[in-house]
Amino acid sequence: MVHGYSGKILWVNLSNGEVKKQSLDMELAYNFLGGEGIASNILFKEVGPETDPLGPENILIFMTGAFVGTNIPCGIKTTVVSKSPLTGIYGESIFSAPLGLDLKYSGYDGLVVKGRAENPAYIWIHNDQVEVKSAKHLWGMDTFETVDAVREELHDKSISVVAIGPAGERLVKIASIISDDSRAAGRCGLGAVMGSKNLKAIACKGTGKIAVSNPERLDELRREALNIALPNTKTLREHGTAAGLIVFEQNGNLPIRNWTRGSFPEAENITGSTMTQKILVGPNPCKTCPIACGRRVRVPSGPYAMEGSGPEYETMAALGSLCYNSNLESIAKANDICNRLGIDTISTGQTIAFAMECYEKGILQDTGGVDLTWGNPDAIVKMCELIGMKQGLGAILGEGVRRASQLIGKGSEKYAIHVKGLEFPEHNPRKFKSMAVAYATSNVGANHNRGSPMLVERNLLSPELPWKEPVDGFLTKDKGRMAKVYQDLCCAVDSLGMCKFMVFWGKLPLKILTEYYGAVTGRALTFEEFMRIGERIWNIQRAFNNRMGITRKDDTLPERFLKESVNEGPAKGQIVELDVMLEEYYRERGLDEDGKPNEGKLRELGLGWVADIIHKK
Ligand code: SF4
Repeated sequence: MVHGYSGKILWVNLSNGEVKKQSLDMELAYNFLGGEGIASNILFKEVGPETDPLGPENILIFMTGAFVGTNIPCGIKTTVVSKSPLTGIYGESIFSAPLGLDLKYSGYDGLVVKGRAENPAYIWIHNDQVEVKSAKHLWGMDTFETVDAVREELHDKSISVVAIGPAGERLVKIASIISDDSRAAGRCGLGAVMGSKNLKAIACKGTGKIAVSNPERLDELRREALNIALPNTKTLREHGTAAGLIVFEQNGNLPIRNWTRGSFPEAENITGSTMTQKILVGPNPCKTCPIACGRRVRVPSGPYAMEGSGPEYETMAALGSLCYNSNLESIAKANDICNRLGIDTISTGQTIAFAMECYEKGILQDTGGVDLTWGNPDAIVKMCELIGMKQGLGAILGEGVRRASQLIGKGSEKYAIHVKGLEFPEHNPRKFKSMAVAYATSNVGANHNRGSPMLVERNLLSPELPWKEPVDGFLTKDKGRMAKVYQDLCCAVDSLGMCKFMVFWGKLPLKILTEYYGAVTGRALTFEEFMRIGERIWNIQRAFNNRMGITRKDDTLPERFLKESVNEGPAKGQIVELDVMLEEYYRERGLDEDGKPNEGKLRELGLGWVADIIHKK
């Protein structure tokens, strides 16, 4: 009997309707844990440099981890993987989707979608039964309407649904996939991949159970973890992840005015505690989560009236301080529009900030009548609509900031803040220099979730790791090693299906994760093996990217961080000294001068077959 896993991967080919239930290769599962680990393997084998991300030959993978469906608190993450239409390389986004629970309860560790349906379709999975159904009547609906309509049609309000909105249908390159009524797989434009397959939604209901090897031990560990994590996450519970916004303004981490300023005097207006006072309805937890960082908010009237899921930190900063906007209600409204139309709030905010800077500089004049003056809340809300509907200037910005700057030209590339085509998240690499290396080398482009070494600089330490004291964020020493370790750790944690807020904000000893794994699967896992698995996962993703043409020259940051500093605030005068940190990183990683994992490293990680492909003469 398999413990912790369902034992099958479901393949659906939308071109011919073929449904295949493939046994899960347990060696693969134990060597890659699940989630992005297994998905990276499948992607590497199925997708090549010639694959058009929006062509039927691309695949879209939804993969769970061993913790999903086991009653481990916060074991709720589903990873979506594909070749990204935004970046052209490895694309990944992780969300708290009950879809993952229902997939596992239906008997599948993951779902791989291939091909392209002739007409709009959705996939309905109910235990053994798998159907491709018409979605003609759903096409054009927003994500929330789609979820409601699918549930109504299937006569069950408890069905898990993930859906795309008009943005995904129209192949907007920053389109997201929305789970149920709020959580987003936002990054890398994977909603456009779904749209390119004519796939409007995936609905799932499972009634099975996941067998665990040692339920008594699992209960003990669960109690131990909650005793540690709940007191440490009180602020998240009270004010959501945006609780940290005011602190970040004060310590120099907050992105302001497209990364050109170091101070935002109105930050108090958009921090988490202000949201609590002014518009909070209540917490909006993911399933299985006692932390409940998610918010439900309501703006009762006025131009920004809305009720629904509230902005978390990344969204608040992206559509707020980054665009110099301190109007809380407008951010709540813009967030709601992004979720309904199905676009990534991080990429959207970064792209609007880019447009505002171009407008200020006179580079962008034809805005279709939208006044893109810094901080104009109406313009931000309007641009979210235009991007999501692929209309007017929104059709250009929805291509993502790299492509938009190429289309606009006139030197606007200088203001396009991205790595490898993925827009920046909201943590300042001038303040936390470990993040500079992490962004420059992340396998998806600029993403704080693919390795957050700033945890060491922020004093959120893990006792199993080498850093026993916080390290000064402005220093460059040891930051290459730090980025490497946290990227590996992140690959491993995410592959379990575990929320990182529980792990890092909760300050869980990392050995609880390996003990959980033992109790769930019956297989002992040492911390060293756990980290080695993370390293293996990172390297297969990197090798995939090497095949897509990524080399050392792509491991860089926008000039803004390398040459420009800000004139005020705690990070005043700081630039990123990337080269020295990158040298150390390359040494620690075992990357060769072309930016490929060296052959010996790949063989040592059990990836000889990958070495044979990327090092073939
Ligand atoms: S901590 Fe927040 S993101 Fe993580 S599972 Fe809980 S509610 Fe979801």
